[in-house]
Amino acid sequence: LQERLSSTFSKLGGKKTLDENNIKEGLREVRLALLEADVNFKVVKQFVDQVKERAMGDEVLKGLEPGQHFIKIVNEELIELLGGEQQGLDLKAKPLKLMMVGLQGSGKTTSSGKIALFMRKQHARKPYLVPADVYRPAAIDQLNTLAKQLDCPVYPSTTDMNPVDICKDALVKAEELGCDLVLFDTAGRLAIDEVLMDELENIKNECAPQEILFVADAMTGQDAVTVAETFNEKLGITGVVLTKMDGDARGGAALSIKTVTGQSVKFVGVGEKLSELELFHPDRIASRILGMGDMMTLIEKAQSEINEDEAKAMAEKMAKAEFDFEDFLGHMKKLKKLGSMEGLLKMIPGMGNIMKQMGDNAMPEDEMKRTEAIISSMTMQERRQPKLINASRKERIAKGSGVKVADVNVLIKNFKQMSTVMQSMMGGGGKGKKKGLLG
Ligand code: GDP
Ligand code: MG
Repeated sequence: LQERLSSTFSKLGGKKTLDENNIKEGLREVRLALLEADVNFKVVKQFVDQVKERAMGDEVLKGLEPGQHFIKIVNEELIELLGGEQQGLDLKAKPLKLMMVGLQGSGKTTSSGKIALFMRKQHARKPYLVPADVYRPAAIDQLNTLAKQLDCPVYPSTTDMNPVDICKDALVKAEELGCDLVLFDTAGRLAIDEVLMDELENIKNECAPQEILFVADAMTGQDAVTVAETFNEKLGITGVVLTKMDGDARGGAALSIKTVTGQSVKFVGVGEKLSELELFHPDRIASRILGMGDMMTLIEKAQSEINEDEAKAMAEKMAKAEFDFEDFLGHMKKLKKLGSMEGLLKMIPGMGNIMKQMGDNAMPEDEMKRTEAIISSMTMQERRQPKLINASRKERIAKGSGVKVADVNVLIKNFKQMSTVMQSMMGGGGKGKKKGLLG
């Protein structure tokens, strides 16, 4: 999305405010990204309208391109909509009663075990697991197995018992055992079902859980809305556990559910193992929904690869006219690995300015390629001492890299210009006069 948005906005140049026209295409891209993430279409419309309202007439922040500014707005709105504040569970309640609800296969049983482990580790809680899904013997066995792995007590449910009675009695047993966290692992169905809903409502009324967590499979994008709506209407959910986010799901369900129920995701399941549970980070899901994960990683990568020290060393070398074609090539290769040239070059302090001084299209990608080819055709000596490059050498280099002699000249000229700019920027005259590499 980042890339598409950037190109959409690059056409707009340095516009200073966002208006109806220049955000139109951007909004379209956002709508597509959300639909691709399987966010419910009603939710998409609502969100896009909201972003539009906020963006219109907004002044582009200093130092940002209009596209970047727009992305910033979209990202912020999304994070806010996902609501980061309410995450976590009520830690004051003792015993804290958690009721897990959701469709069959969404991950209720697994998440019960995960939350038990999480609460024991992070908050020294003593969990008590309650199998309240009596319709499938395997369901009881499954929770018993998890309880054994966790070495944690479990209510001895059997298939002939009534789920409401199980939960009520489990509260008594939990107290006897000194457990201060009770997890009701309720039954699910493949689809919503009245009888089940009534049963869940009864458990709620009899046991008064502080938290009713709706467990949603991240892969269920569109469907999540109706299901979440129904569970919420009947039971009043207090939060969401979004499971299977270790797959390639974009997590659009988080946005849909939050929008229709008003309840945010509290936990995210990221694997089958009991330890694979995370607290909800709205920013992570926001970038995932927008497909910006790659961009974030890229920026992180760029920042770590071209760290400050390195950039400083490079600037110093340039200032002292020691920066040569070999250094240049090294940096170019590093940058190329990272993807989009233009944006990345700008992340090197001072580079944005240099590029401006060199003209707007200083380094589009194919020019980078050509530049790399030319430098690769130079001998190491020529790279280190560009002064050596005379007419016959230029001709050899041009042939070797498949370009015209004029291109070699342009590169040498640009390089010289860059060194000069660098030197003046760094106040290069300070340490005594030194002749530039190119004489
Ligand atoms: P329930 O029917 O709602 O109780 O769902 P289960 O807890 O039995 O989970 C259904 C399946 O999803 C099982 O195979 C789990 O191992 C798997 N599962 C649950 N949570 C996650 C998760 O976060 N990531 C992955 N990869 N699998 C999960
Ligand atoms: Mg289950």
